[in-house]
Amino acid sequence: MSHLDPFDVAVVGGGPGGSTTAYYLCKCSNLKVALFDQARFPRQKVCGEGVAYASQQILGEMGLLEKLQPNIHYCSAGGLSSPSGISYVETSTRGPAEVRIAMVHRTILDTAILRRAEQEGCRVFEGHHTTKVEYDTTSALWVLRFCVTPGEEGNALEDSSRERTYHARALVAADGASSNICRTLGLVTSPPQAWSSQSYIRAGTHRFQHDMFFFYRPSISPGYVSLFTMANGDVNMCVYAVPGTGLKAPDVVALHERLLREDPLIRGALGPEAQSSPIKAGPLRCGGNRRSYARALLAVGDAAGFVDPLTGEGIHWAMVSGQLAARTLAEGFAKGDLSARQMGRYQTGWRRAFGRGFFWSSVFAKAIRWCPILLDAVVARVRADSGASGAISPFAREWALCFAGTHSKVRLLHPRSNTSGIISWLVGQQKKQFFGAGQWQLARFWMSGDRC
Ligand SMILES: Cc1cc2nc3c(=O)[nH]c(=O)nc-3n(C[C@H](O)[C@H](O)[C@H](O)COP(=O)(O)OP(=O)(O)OC[C@H]3O[C@@H](n4cnc5c(N)ncnc54)[C@H](O)[C@@H]3O)c2cc1C
Repeated sequence: MSHLDPFDVAVVGGGPGGSTTAYYLCKCSNLKVALFDQARFPRQKVCGEGVAYASQQILGEMGLLEKLQPNIHYCSAGGLSSPSGISYVETSTRGPAEVRIAMVHRTILDTAILRRAEQEGCRVFEGHHTTKVEYDTTSALWVLRFCVTPGEEGNALEDSSRERTYHARALVAADGASSNICRTLGLVTSPPQAWSSQSYIRAGTHRFQHDMFFFYRPSISPGYVSLFTMANGDVNMCVYAVPGTGLKAPDVVALHERLLREDPLIRGALGPEAQSSPIKAGPLRCGGNRRSYARALLAVGDAAGFVDPLTGEGIHWAMVSGQLAARTLAEGFAKGDLSARQMGRYQTGWRRAFGRGFFWSSVFAKAIRWCPILLDAVVARVRADSGASGAISPFAREWALCFAGTHSKVRLLHPRSNTSGIISWLVGQQKKQFFGAGQWQLARFWMSGDRC
């Protein structure tokens, strides 16, 4: 069945990336916008569910942050433990608001953003799985074919056909890390680079006291394990096998299980009675696609690879890229120009806004992989600073802002980030190892000439 009246913009994917794009398109223009998702909402998404400050600001702008408050648990107290087990814990009142992570179930968050876009005038088609997308150069329209799944009562199909065709002048690919659209249209040629896993540790079965904790365990380097407390008392546990670990979905699930049951630090934090929901894995496409646009086409969020290669976070980049995509398309329609050149402004925009940060995240992930002692140095340095002043040190603050995605990771190289402090700690450690192993005597022996 074909619905021939074309939309101006078709957005495929109703996660934070697609719904934010649709919301801003409807808010800032008179364009006729449609959003399609294969799922019916509320739907689950495998995720750590940590919503960083940039997304909190956008949610505030949409008028959603206030409404979501009863479902949010803000995390600011917590800490981290380095690969060799040096740990640091921060108390809740000392961190700046920009490092606060809002924990909210994705079923609730994603549905709220989708419905907000709908209220703003977007037509939402749930249960629509794209089977084919192609650009018809004669009509200058995208032809989108869907297979429709029957819904709950009231959502039932109006006719017996399960296939639908829609047309649109522009297309936004927001269909997640595995993006069929980006693969079909050649915007990406490789599969997602990494897999991560998630499970809930049920409230009442664990003894986790903090808001959040990050464990940098050698078995997952340069990735990490996170524990976040949710509003209902559950703990969201994730194993972030960021690029570099080389783990596939079954490996990461098995590792998650093993860490939960056997790792002394994680078991210690959760307690022996901790009960986990089934462990699920999801793909990560990181670092930003080389090309995220074509004529009348933009990719946002995970479809465009907007996940930080060091932290595995992507909700805020999905939302920020949604804002940028909406602006680029609105400008394009206003000028009557949806050429690849005009759409290319989007690529320049996201590169400037957060793309360079991805580059530095990759550099740091590689550095941690080859030299995990760097993280020991960072944690030792944070501990030393915090102990001295009794308040969060500028050093700890800067690192927290960079890791929460508020600042670009390049700032970690700034002198204020106390790189020299880290280096002096590393040199100290090397000296200790050298002397501790009795090699000093050996060196003196070699240097003294006694051997002759
Ligand atoms: C284990 C794990 C933990 C994570 N933890 C965090 C975290 O704590 N904080 C954070 O910021 N990020 C986290 N992320 C990353 C985050 O989940 C993503 O960056 C975010 O979901 C991206 O949003 P999106 O809208 O681009 O894509 P998605 O949220 O994946 O949405 C894509 C949508 O497209 C739809 N779709 C897919 N294919 C089709 C099709 N063919 N037809 C129609 N619809 C389709 C899907 O149903 C889905 O609704 C984590 C990821 C993983 C895997």
